[in-house]
Amino acid sequence: MNARVLYRARAYDTPDDPFVDGAAAPGFRYDDDLGLAVSDDGVILARGPFPSVAAAHPHAPVLDLRAGILLPGLVDTHVHFPQVRVIGALGMPLLEWLERCALPEEQHLAAPDYAATIAGEFVASLIAAGTTTSLVFGSHFAQAVDALFAEAERFGLRVTSGLVVSDRVLPEPLLTTPERAYAEAVDLASRWHGRGRLRYAVTPRFSLSASDPVLAACGAVLADVDGACFTSHVNENLAEVATVAGQFPDRAHYVDTYDHHGLLGPLSVLAHDVHPTDAELAIMAARASSVAYCPTSNSALGSGTFPLRRHLAAGVRVALGSDVGAGTGFSIFKEGLQAYFLQHLLGEQGMPLTAAHLLHLSTAAGAAALGLADTVGDLSEGKQFDAILVRPPAGTALDIGLRHAESPEGALGKVFALAGDADVAEVWVGGDQVASGGFVRPVSPRAPAGRRTPAG
Ligand SMILES: [Zn+2]
Repeated sequence: MNARVLYRARAYDTPDDPFVDGAAAPGFRYDDDLGLAVSDDGVILARGPFPSVAAAHPHAPVLDLRAGILLPGLVDTHVHFPQVRVIGALGMPLLEWLERCALPEEQHLAAPDYAATIAGEFVASLIAAGTTTSLVFGSHFAQAVDALFAEAERFGLRVTSGLVVSDRVLPEPLLTTPERAYAEAVDLASRWHGRGRLRYAVTPRFSLSASDPVLAACGAVLADVDGACFTSHVNENLAEVATVAGQFPDRAHYVDTYDHHGLLGPLSVLAHDVHPTDAELAIMAARASSVAYCPTSNSALGSGTFPLRRHLAAGVRVALGSDVGAGTGFSIFKEGLQAYFLQHLLGEQGMPLTAAHLLHLSTAAGAAALGLADTVGDLSEGKQFDAILVRPPAGTALDIGLRHAESPEGALGKVFALAGDADVAEVWVGGDQVASGGFVRPVSPRAPAGRRTPAG
């Protein structure tokens, strides 16, 4: 097959899991003169030293990216579409923050024009941060979820999302019934699930606001929409955990409120899990479900310090989430840095993290959590070309640091310490360039290649 373009780059990725016992140092793959031949449909056809890839594809135009650092596209496994405007409200624990900040804003998405505006702001924010794949907590309003999917498709992002459902505790406009929850979800999935790079996620807000009948309806949607994901919150805050225990006296624990309805499997992602019991970790490991670790949100809401070491020891898969808008921004680099800080501060109970761990949590681990490990997450042959170019403005601390880095590992550490949205110079999804030099541009979706999820 002919290559459409040949990228020449200094590139990092983590095809091997650096968290595995005995993983070889430095835990990432780095090439300072890499060639990547990419096809018309966005697939990496060949990877290797630039001279040899160029010799095999002599007619492909070459794009030299060596002024920056090429990384796989970043993956955010927990981010709330309706909360882009409430980022930065500090000083409240979870339940007060929901009542005073998040839920009033989420009610505004009942208005279609407002929802469409927010969808535009949200998708642009993902792209600016270099997030190419995301599991997005949607809206309680079906029309707003339509607006999100439409906007994600217009820009070619890889987005999994769905209708958020609840039937108690929340303000009345955000409530639904089990029957309506099922009907609207299946209807949305019929329009969007498996279309291009979009997939559906069954999304009860959390058991605190979702009774057994609504959770059962979620189980029915999951059974009826082939290949759908599941996401919700769990064990974020001690007051929340105690409330859920009182609401579900017949369940063994918080995780069981979901597991009881068949909601946990390999395509399930539970956000937070700051306060798990060993029994809950064992269930999540047995179901091959994943946890979205959201370090800035956990810090901003004072939820607690995520027990990463216990999750890994139990065999629970973990990836990163920004948890906008409790989290303090869209940058997955910042989440990686905050994870590093918090694990360091935990001392012997923490998990020491290297730059390789942070890159893996930010890319391949997220792809695996979302069932996309065969499609994206690293820059291997056969995968979709989802990538970002980190190229800081001249004279910034990151620019200086990268020019004087003593090793590839040192340079990658500087990226996580210093990189922000302004340093993400180029963004590609499936070979389509969706941002360049600060400009975000819509792409017309082609027939997607790679792994497809059948529509339900
Ligand atoms: Zn959340």
